[in-house]
Amino acid sequence: MPGSHTSGAYPPLVSAEASGDEVFGHAEAEGFEQVVFGHDSATGLRAVVAVHSTVLGPAIGGTRFRPYEREAAAVTDVCRLARGMTFKHAVAGLDAGGGKAVILGEPATLRSDQLMRAYARVIDGLGGRYLTAEDVGTNQADMDLIGSVTPYVTGRSVSLGGSGDPSPATAWGVRCAFDAVAKRLWGAADLAGRHVVVSGVGKVGSALVDHLIDAGCRVTVADVAGAAVLAVRRRHPAVEVVDPADAHAVACDVFSPCAMGAVLSGATIAQLRCAAVCGSANNQLQTPADGARLADHGVLYAPDYVVNAGGVINIAEERRRSGATYDRDRAWAQVAEISTTLQRVLARADADGTTPAEAADRLVEERLAAANRVTAVRSVTT
Ligand code: NAD
Repeated sequence: MPGSHTSGAYPPLVSAEASGDEVFGHAEAEGFEQVVFGHDSATGLRAVVAVHSTVLGPAIGGTRFRPYEREAAAVTDVCRLARGMTFKHAVAGLDAGGGKAVILGEPATLRSDQLMRAYARVIDGLGGRYLTAEDVGTNQADMDLIGSVTPYVTGRSVSLGGSGDPSPATAWGVRCAFDAVAKRLWGAADLAGRHVVVSGVGKVGSALVDHLIDAGCRVTVADVAGAAVLAVRRRHPAVEVVDPADAHAVACDVFSPCAMGAVLSGATIAQLRCAAVCGSANNQLQTPADGARLADHGVLYAPDYVVNAGGVINIAEERRRSGATYDRDRAWAQVAEISTTLQRVLARADADGTTPAEAADRLVEERLAAANRVTAVRSVTT
């Protein structure tokens, strides 16, 4: 039977070498509320769910299904991602906390309906403190299956009352963030004639290219998958193509990372020839110091978790309308507010004389501190 445990009859999930300290080290350093291990020997399920914060509401975040070289690496990954979700929800003004889950293993060989059901029971056991969604290695069919076991799942198929794949909403949010960038750099939310390099044209990047072409941009794309580039070129033959290794160094107005994290490092920032960076990829800065490096290099950085919140804003609409039909127009109008949020972040950076990345973090910390004060007052008065 699956269950949540950190000790007892089951073998420890975390190897002795990477034991306690690494798990509780994260909890101490980042203020985690809960890290739960789920295990089911019949199906081979090994899952870790991290609830970073429920201060603003139930923790929401996707389930990543992938192999890890070491179990401790999975714990590190899930904790880092869960914390990121707290920040993403908070800055977007959503009443949701931060959580994330990983299933360890190769989905192509390990995945089975029984395993997903066992995983769903682990989530169910958290009683609504954590709601899951799709992420790398999981898909909408998985969410539909999980939804047959537990109500604590988002992003199910539209036919089942869910909001479906979040990627189109994420791409729309990135497009709206471009408006804030254009206003700041060029005085108006007008992208006509601007040159944008989109690195990674998967679900989000390719939809973003459609929006940018509609807005009159000149677009260059890069992707390690030739098929992804071809699909874009079929729709937009005028799109230019560059080698993924060189994408960040192309002279352009905006560089838009829509693939992997950690693309902005000391080495790559020195090679940037853009006025701004604005893209969907999570964790774009390799280290916090890279926010300042970008500013020193004269590049405006639109913080990733502000820009790529469209998917979670879409999910919030699904939850708000529980029992009613998901309203896409309403959700997308909310997603468009990312432009306003980004303008607020940039204004705060100006006011504080700091970087946009630091300003976004401060706004989040203030919102969490205010919510914590309210909780404290409530517990005193009740
Ligand atoms: P995806 O897997 O559909 O697309 C990623 C694309 O990047 C693929 O086409 C892949 O071939 C390409 N790629 C991989 N490595 C690359 C490299 N080194 N250089 C150039 N291209 C490379 O993923 P997605 O859903 O489009 O998400 C893209 C990014 O946005 C990810 O970082 C993801 O975490 C983030 N994000 C996605 C969503 C969403 O709703 N899908 C929401 C928030 C953040």
